[in-house]
Amino acid sequence: MKKILIIEDEKDLLKLLKYNFEKEGYKTVTASDGEAGLEAFKREKPDLVILDIMLPELNGYEFLKIVRRDSGVPVVVLTARKEEVDKILGFELGADDFVTKPFSVREVLARVKTILKRIEAPARYQIHGRMGDLEVDFDRFEVRIKGRPVSLSTKEFDFLKILIEADGKVLSREKILENVWGYDQSMEIDTRTIDQHISRLREKLGHESERIVTVKNKGYRIKLD
Ligand code: CA
Repeated sequence: MKKILIIEDEKDLLKLLKYNFEKEGYKTVTASDGEAGLEAFKREKPDLVILDIMLPELNGYEFLKIVRRDSGVPVVVLTARKEEVDKILGFELGADDFVTKPFSVREVLARVKTILKRIEAPARYQIHGRMGDLEVDFDRFEVRIKGRPVSLSTKEFDFLKILIEADGKVLSREKILENVWGYDQSMEIDTRTIDQHISRLREKLGHESERIVTVKNKGYRIKLD
């Protein structure tokens, strides 16, 4: 049973989310401020976090910054403002998905299901990428450098995956957005978000980062062996 941590200070909304997620067979843990959310996160080790941005004590940005230091846990952000989206998904925070308020619970459920399914499902392509010191295991959703695990968010993993699947061919930013977020949502996201994700990914890949090549005015490709 998957465990979902829901952090939301609007009591009715929190109740509604909790009720519906439990009805769908998830185990839930709830918190109504950022500080309590962080404690619950450390204690409960949830499989996914639903995070409101405007929270008392510690806000959603601060929460995510702390959590992202050493966890790639999938995070779905609830935001009231569309203009926050790029910041939320981008370099600074690296959330996996977002839902703009007001939203339907069904929509939140669908996003969560998609993310969890992707983590669990065996990869469509049975490539176990091994390039130099970099090892990517699509089935187990793991990346290692010299055998040491690298903690990537699901979106960072997706970027790496589609670059590898493109087999060294250049992918445009639009193509990457569409692949990683789906067509509808990709329309709302600034293509610069890709650049931010890529720099974050490069940072995490250390000395193997130069495998991700920027092709001027075109997009990105991966340098295979
Ligand atoms: Ca709030």
